[in-house]
Amino acid sequence: MELEEKITFLAVREWVTAQKAMKKMAKGKKRGKIVVHQELCKGCGLCVAFCPQNVMAISDTLNQMGYFPAKWLDKGHNGKTCVACATCAIMCPDAAIEVYLE
Ligand code: SF4
Ligand code: SF4
Repeated sequence: MELEEKITFLAVREWVTAQKAMKKMAKGKKRGKIVVHQELCKGCGLCVAFCPQNVMAISDTLNQMGYFPAKWLDKGHNGKTCVACATCAIMCPDAAIEVYLE
């Protein structure tokens, strides 16, 4: 499988996982909470790009390594909240994200 096909496959798989998580969350009315380990993050933006709720963003403050790290938004600009689908943590190449269920 070519790299581009692999990335597409991963993206679709994560989207399906996220949709399932969102349905479960809607039923249980629970929400997720994210911890980003700022000093592990290289600010690649993958978690931001793949979050289905748009509740990840890039911080405007540099970390100790000189990167702008990701940050979690309690509520997105669209009013949505985290559904704990874990897509951001799975996509992160630096294992900088922890996902919790509240
Ligand atoms: S777990 Fe991560 S990807 Fe999923 S909704 Fe929450 S912040 Fe977004
Ligand atoms: S995917 Fe990981 S390394 Fe990339 S911005 Fe998000 S937390 Fe940082």
